[in-house]
Amino acid sequence: MNELLVFVCNGAPVRGEFVSLGSTWQSIVERRNDPPAVQKLMGEFVAAATLLTATIKLNGTLIIQAQSKGPIQLLVVECTSQLEVRATVKLNPDVTEIPDNATLAELLDAEGSGRLAITLDPIDRQASQIPYQGIVALNRPSATHPGLLEPIETVSEAIMLYMQNSEQLETHVWLACNSETVGGFLLQRLPDSGGSSQYDPEMMSDGWQRIQMLGNTITKDELLTVSPETLLRRLFLEESSRYGVHSFPTRLVKFSCRCSRQRVADVIRMLGHDEVDSILAEQGVVETTCDFCGMQYRFDAVDCKQAFASSTLSDAVRPPSKGH
Ligand SMILES: [Zn+2]
Repeated sequence: MNELLVFVCNGAPVRGEFVSLGSTWQSIVERRNDPPAVQKLMGEFVAAATLLTATIKLNGTLIIQAQSKGPIQLLVVECTSQLEVRATVKLNPDVTEIPDNATLAELLDAEGSGRLAITLDPIDRQASQIPYQGIVALNRPSATHPGLLEPIETVSEAIMLYMQNSEQLETHVWLACNSETVGGFLLQRLPDSGGSSQYDPEMMSDGWQRIQMLGNTITKDELLTVSPETLLRRLFLEESSRYGVHSFPTRLVKFSCRCSRQRVADVIRMLGHDEVDSILAEQGVVETTCDFCGMQYRFDAVDCKQAFASSTLSDAVRPPSKGH
């Protein structure tokens, strides 16, 4: 089960999505050895990245990046518009123990330093164009202590805050993760269609409330064990028979890394002759391992010479253009 299912409701201005990843998620974690709390956080971000990618019109890559001075220094999750995902986490080497129940706030927001950035990088972006980026601080005004900020505890809260701030769309997200599976569910209130809607505003508002209440009945266990099609039927059976729910064909979500020897050659050229010569003098080769997939690349003196001889600098950030 590695699929994403999108549906729309006829009786409410709502778009919904379910995602469930089995072997795709295992491809990401099998070569890693992260503490359970870190793995859970990464898995929830992977589910969130696929859900968000499917909500936006983008031909390119959605990149979720979190940085902090906490136990997680850097977390990167990427999902292309073809639903190819990859993810990596860099832990703070000074932190030796991470409790299994550590929250997002504890892992990513030490001293209020945590930031979450979501970047939309289109495939046809010109080198001079800056990709769109939305940033959320991982805290919010306290409801009980006016003037104070309180940390955000969960990935779903962070994603909902991002959607509210950046896209101005009311969104509700449920996420779950264990070592075998990640699951996610998203409900989004679509903008009112400027009077052309067949329902009146009050009915649409009621519809959004009704669908959210149905959504709130979902459990983490269901998200991890039940297929998207079954979840849709189970949660929206009455809604479907009363108003109609339209689902689109499920889409496959794959693990795929876009590292390549060509990209490493680009990095070697960017390091420059002096730096590369000093690495070669010290170690004999330039070696690097892809943080996302573990692929190892070795460039000896001859390879480095060839890398410098190649005149074209391909874009080290952009994914390779693929046929559809
Ligand atoms: Zn790779």
